[in-house]
Amino acid sequence: MLMAHPLIDIHSHADRPSVGWRILSLDISAVVDGQYLQSEIVEPNRHVSIGIHPWFIARQPLEQSWQVLETLCIDPQVLAIGECGLDRCIDTPLTTQSEVFSRQIELSERIEKPLIIHCVRAFDELLALRKAFKPTQPWIVHGFTGKPALAQQLINHGCYLSFGKALLKPDSPACQTLPTIPLDRLFLETDAAADISIAQIYTAAAKILGFDIGVLSAELHRNFTRVFLHD
Ligand SMILES: [Zn+2]
Repeated sequence: MLMAHPLIDIHSHADRPSVGWRILSLDISAVVDGQYLQSEIVEPNRHVSIGIHPWFIARQPLEQSWQVLETLCIDPQVLAIGECGLDRCIDTPLTTQSEVFSRQIELSERIEKPLIIHCVRAFDELLALRKAFKPTQPWIVHGFTGKPALAQQLINHGCYLSFGKALLKPDSPACQTLPTIPLDRLFLETDAAADISIAQIYTAAAKILGFDIGVLSAELHRNFTRVFLHD
């Protein structure tokens, strides 16, 4: 008999009550612009990831971002650094993004917490950084919607992949890719979709994989404790 495991949303931007466990993703700019007080970010029952998103690098002076990030990231409620990463579809030059991301890679290694990664059309650059840094901390590529070949490449390089609302669209490549992912490298998330619950994502994933949702939640719980709780 399987024990019931909580549904785990490893990447959410919605700060609302949830049925299972969740890592709330906060950008440094939310602190700097006063949306959150620095003292409010880390609450006993809230797990967060915190980082400098490539979209928001220029929202405040970089050194201010670093000060806030380095202060907050050591709190035990902060389970990961991110989201951070590379995005070819924005105006900020990739070289600038790469510098800011590299510094977060170093931080993740220094404080021994995993990285939650945003990557849009910059996977070659991402893998080049992985080869250069040879990180010991897990890298989780979030919001993965790519094809099986790209997934395989990332898996071969040791990455974890997290899938979200793309699984609700049967014609998305994510639905073909999901069954090709080793279960010990898989996570699920709601990301910015405020109207979608993590239960819907688990239901869709379980259906695609042909598993019982209890089997899937047990596997992902194991991944969560290993990657984020160092168990
Ligand atoms: Zn996100």
